[in-house]
Amino acid sequence: MYEAEREELVEILQSKGIKDENVLRAIKKVERHKFVPETILFHAYLDKALPIGDNQTISQPYTVAFMTEALAIQKGDKVLEIGTGSGYQAAILLEMGCEVYSIERISNIYNRTLKLFDQMRLRAALRCSDGTIGWSDYAPYDKIIVTAAGPSVPNALKRQLKVGGKLVMPVGEKSSQSLVVLTKTGEDEFEAVSHPNFLFVPLIGHEGWEKK
Ligand code: SAM
Repeated sequence: MYEAEREELVEILQSKGIKDENVLRAIKKVERHKFVPETILFHAYLDKALPIGDNQTISQPYTVAFMTEALAIQKGDKVLEIGTGSGYQAAILLEMGCEVYSIERISNIYNRTLKLFDQMRLRAALRCSDGTIGWSDYAPYDKIIVTAAGPSVPNALKRQLKVGGKLVMPVGEKSSQSLVVLTKTGEDEFEAVSHPNFLFVPLIGHEGWEKK
């Protein structure tokens, strides 16, 4: 179902500069319509962020592709995601052969995605808690992806990244952020590259923004 729409979406992402064949293959395969509310099913393959309830969103496909490409995913990577949301990003990582650990702070969203993953037989470890403190039980991770925007990269996440690993996260003001890609080059050493003009929902928590 919706195969032509997914193919068209892949072409749009290519035209916007996404090159990683494995990312494009995963976007072509993963059924985004299963991760959006039924009432907006027909918008599922637009290159747009969409509401998923509780004032949260499923990220724009371009953003998902850009962040995934920036992580230089290798099959078998152990990936920590902060901000499970709809589960779409986690499903893309699973499709690319990653071992996925994902944290969501809103219990409504967590419960819905847990049920969906069960129905779709998607095998990821999901947890409901504050992701800004990471998930130390399974650390260190090859890659970390944060899909909500904070004022800075949480120290806990920097610690839980493997040396040689990569982390991607939107950092900045609540009204606009840059996507920061960190490569951990030593125990406490990082190289950073920044891509401006992204907009995410806020990362709320201990090392994020305060809940209003
Ligand atoms: N990756 C998601 C997807 O594929 O649908 C996008 C999710 S949305 C842009 C960001 C999510 O981060 C929201 O569901 C929000 O509740 C969650 N979030 C915000 N702060 C968080 C925190 N401290 N820990 C875990 N999740 C958090």
